[in-house]
Amino acid sequence: MKAARLFGKNDLRVQDIPVPEIGPGEILLRTAAASVCGTDIRMLKHGHAQATPESPLVIGHEMAGTIERLGEGVTSYRAGQRVCVAPNYNPTPSRLTVGGEGHLDPNYRALGIHEDGGFAEFVRIPALAVSQGNVFPISDHVSFTEAAMIEPMSCVYNAYEKAGTRPGDTVLIIGAGPIGVMHAKISRLAGAGKVIINDVNAERLEMARSIDPSFITIHGDVRAEIARLTGGAGPDVIITACPVPEVQTLAVEIAAISGRIVFFGGLPKDRAVVPLDANIIHYRQLMVTGTTRQSLRQFQAVLALVTDGVLRLEDLVTSTHPVEETEKAIAAMANATGLKSRLEFAA
Ligand SMILES: [Zn+2]
Repeated sequence: MKAARLFGKNDLRVQDIPVPEIGPGEILLRTAAASVCGTDIRMLKHGHAQATPESPLVIGHEMAGTIERLGEGVTSYRAGQRVCVAPNYNPTPSRLTVGGEGHLDPNYRALGIHEDGGFAEFVRIPALAVSQGNVFPISDHVSFTEAAMIEPMSCVYNAYEKAGTRPGDTVLIIGAGPIGVMHAKISRLAGAGKVIINDVNAERLEMARSIDPSFITIHGDVRAEIARLTGGAGPDVIITACPVPEVQTLAVEIAAISGRIVFFGGLPKDRAVVPLDANIIHYRQLMVTGTTRQSLRQFQAVLALVTDGVLRLEDLVTSTHPVEETEKAIAAMANATGLKSRLEFAA
């Protein structure tokens, strides 16, 4: 099979390798679509502990396809079934896994990060992931592409739940990449009054508006525009969907009284200490939090929204590639020329 394997920093090779063997309790997935994530860009750019010349890693953790084969003892699925796969699973039970938050457990494992992932024609789904319910059957009308994007969308849903966005809220999203647009979509769905997106990239703001003309975009002076749009009150919810420290400082300064701020985008390690005005947080009663990954419950919730047709994701895709062009697909996203890149596999 063809697979995009990471050997180290800036060393991604598409190779012909054997189709993975599966053992008892495992599933062999025939990949139909896989989407590219910021994590893939970072893994290629900086390398990754799990991807070495001795032990290269098939990257990609946003995937959907059909079940090719079932390992011994797998009874809750059938061959030929259309599914998408949540990538994070837990080898050991813990306080967090029991509480439904295994994605936050430091010992979590992920397809495409610790184990071979979705940028390949076939993927071995480990028995633990199968038994923990990471394989989600999808309805016939849900496309493989949308199913692959349940993963990033459910990370976004995690932030939405933390922010507690309510009807009428003004939401500001800083960062108009695919993730920013996903935040805008869920805010719209949650009944936000104004959904405002800010970015330095005018082209991406244009793309966001073409997806939903109700999105308000800010390209210039954020403070002035937010003051104007909110009558000086500030946004009720602010999501930082970019890896820029200054944006976190700004979010605290412009949030409304009782505002909720979610630091969604991680920061470069050497720039992660950020000045935040603690008196503003105190006197304006702000809630400042972060989110990462998603629980299986959140994954399931987003799958339901997509299945019911109230949340569309396909319009985020701006470039499509065969697996041979994985590096191109990653570059298209890294250059911020479009929104989401996807790999499509021949049926
Ligand atoms: Zn992702």
